[in-house]
Order: sequence, then structure tokens, then C-alpha cells
Amino acid sequence: MGTTTYAIALGANRPTRHGRPAAAIALALDRIGGVVAASSTIETPPLGPSIRRFANAAALIESDEPPPVLLARLKRIERALGRRPGRRWGARPIDLDIVLWSGGRHATRALTIPHREWHRRRFVLAPLAEIAPGWRDPDSGRTVRQLLTEVDRRRPRT
Ligand code: ATP
Ligand code: CA
Ligand code: CA
Repeated sequence: MGTTTYAIALGANRPTRHGRPAAAIALALDRIGGVVAASSTIETPPLGPSIRRFANAAALIESDEPPPVLLARLKRIERALGRRPGRRWGARPIDLDIVLWSGGRHATRALTIPHREWHRRRFVLAPLAEIAPGWRDPDSGRTVRQLLTEVDRRRPRT
């Protein structure tokens, strides 16, 4: 039984042998296990010939693993799904980030929870608002729903 709840953000922006990005997200969720809630997968179709299809989702998982142990396991799952190190923000088959956890804050050189950028990213907030709208950011005290509203107010079209 999991004693700790984690909010995970899943993203993919290139196809793999498993299929299009949404398929990699479904497979990653399956491998992570302990899933107590999963958002819909938001898949953005290519906007032009050279622009990639990408997909994002969020999940709540329960686990007994402390944060660094979960992160190490997420990285192994990324590698198993074809992720190769290098190029941050480049094309990758899967990206698994820890956004929040029930333990509040966790900050080391290798791992910061809450994730440093999550509250600015609509592609993280929108799926998470489907499954955990009332979860409060320990830094700002705002709920996921409020943070999403604020991002939309600043950038209504993205
Ligand atoms: P971003 O962090 O802006 O979303 P990214 O996900 O593309 O970028 P990666 O190359 O996947 O970045 O990860 C870089 C490092 O970030 C990882 O090796 C990991 O140690 C560290 N990291 C720090 N905090 C977190 C977190 N909350 N979740 C996942 N990785 C984290
Ligand atoms: Ca990321
Ligand atoms: Ca990452």
C-alpha cells in the first residue's frame, strides 16, 4: 500500500516503436503503477509539416518510495521507453516529472518538489486540474485550479 501520494506530469513529443506520443504516455502510466487517478491525455496535432505532435497528461500515484527513489525509477522507465540523455527540451519519447508530493517540499541538487516550473506551465496545470484541482502549492498556497486560472489570465490563448 502506498503511503505517499505523488502528482506526476507526463509528456511526449516524438513517436516511438510503441506508436504516437499518447501511446508512450499510456505505457509509462502502466509501468509506473500505483495510479489512483489519471487525467485525459491532451494530444496536440501537428500544426504544420515540420511541427511535432505532442501529448501531455498528469497522474496521481501512491507509493512507499521516497522522492529520490521514485525519480530514479521514473528515469529507468524513461530509458526503457527510448529516452536518451542529453538535449533538455529537445524531442523525446517520454518525460516523467514529479510535480508535487504529499510530503510538501523536497529540495536537493538533483530533485526539487514542487517542480520549479510547473506553476507556469499550462500543459502541466490543465491535466492536473482534472484530477487534483484542490491540491495546494506549498510555495504559493494557491490551488492547482487557481494557478491554471492565473496562467490563462496571463496568456489566454496558450
Ligand atoms: P524541466 O525540468 O524544465 O521540465 P526536463 O524535464 O526536460 O526540463 P530533464 O532533462 O528531464 O529536464 O531533467 C533534468 C534533471 O532535472 C533530472 O536529471 C532531475 O535530476 C532534475 N529534476 C529536478 N527536479 C525534478 C522533478 N521535480 N522531477 C523530475 N526531475 C527533476
Ligand atoms: Ca519536464
Ligand atoms: Ca524531466
